[in-house]
Amino acid sequence: MTTYTIGFVGLGNMGAPMAANLAAAGYTVLGFDVAGTTAKGVTSVATAEAACEGADFVITMLPNGTILRRVADQLIPAMKTGATLVDCSTVDVQSARDVDAQATAAGAGFVDAPVSGGIGGAAGGTLTFMAGGSDTAFASALPLFDIMGQKAVHCGGAGAGQAAKICNNMILGATMLATCEAFGLADKLGLDRQKMFDVVSTSSGYSWSMNAYCPAPGVGPQSPADNGYAPGFAAELMLKDLGLSQQAAEAVDADTPMGALALALYQQFVEHEDGKGQDFSAMLPRFAARGRQAP
Ligand code: NAD
Repeated sequence: MTTYTIGFVGLGNMGAPMAANLAAAGYTVLGFDVAGTTAKGVTSVATAEAACEGADFVITMLPNGTILRRVADQLIPAMKTGATLVDCSTVDVQSARDVDAQATAAGAGFVDAPVSGGIGGAAGGTLTFMAGGSDTAFASALPLFDIMGQKAVHCGGAGAGQAAKICNNMILGATMLATCEAFGLADKLGLDRQKMFDVVSTSSGYSWSMNAYCPAPGVGPQSPADNGYAPGFAAELMLKDLGLSQQAAEAVDADTPMGALALALYQQFVEHEDGKGQDFSAMLPRFAARGRQAP
């Protein structure tokens, strides 16, 4: 194995275990987070720039595109020639493309590589990476994806990873809502939830939301519903991703009415009801407790 030095900026819920896995694999990892967090095996440094010192790769795992742009302004001038910036955050497509242009102009490589798999996947090294960037930049980052994850798909040029991520999560948000409202209807029709699962999970209404992450407690495989709807994948993270999908749809004039409605429903749930801090599948008890609303 070639031993690389890796800078890691953003050691939060996802970044800390990802950085720890790289360190456990034998890489030298220089970590920085404004909150002062660190991770096992990682050498803490005092600034984002210091994380670039001698680094072959700099990985970012940050909350959003605005912060990514700010951090990229610090990192890119400090990176050594030929180093590659790998952004694993979920951000808007335009931020990914702009940071790519900035990195390219400075002679650095760039890959946008958002992930799926959540905190469990980050800790277990089983994330899926969906990546955008040049063939060379993607190929160079593959050994790192292999350590932090189980699969990496090269989706296209810069921004393609973010595009794949938001399209996937727009489908996920809409299918989870459809699954939850159908359980609410089934309840009111007197249909047993287990029977509903038995039929739908093997019929044309099946989906990941029903089959792998069933929102009904005690039905289907273990899921956050069996743990009082503790996340899992928090409703506010789904809200963020749906917001990114609608921002992108607006930018390219795409008609996404289901995505727009999913955004409105999660916005209502998180910002005006009790959805914050609950799993995104907690839409089931929400629908079940309500009567018919005006269309
Ligand atoms: P988090 O809030 O736990 O971590 C983000 C970290 O970035 C924090 O520790 C924060 O202090 C740090 N940070 C903020 N500004 C900084 C700056 N200027 N310099 C250095 N550090 C800075 O969030 P998370 O759950 O780890 O998620 C990170 C990213 O991964 C997000 O974009 C999120 O959408 C995405 N994501 C999260 C999950 C999940 O299940 N948590 C799943 C898939 C993707």
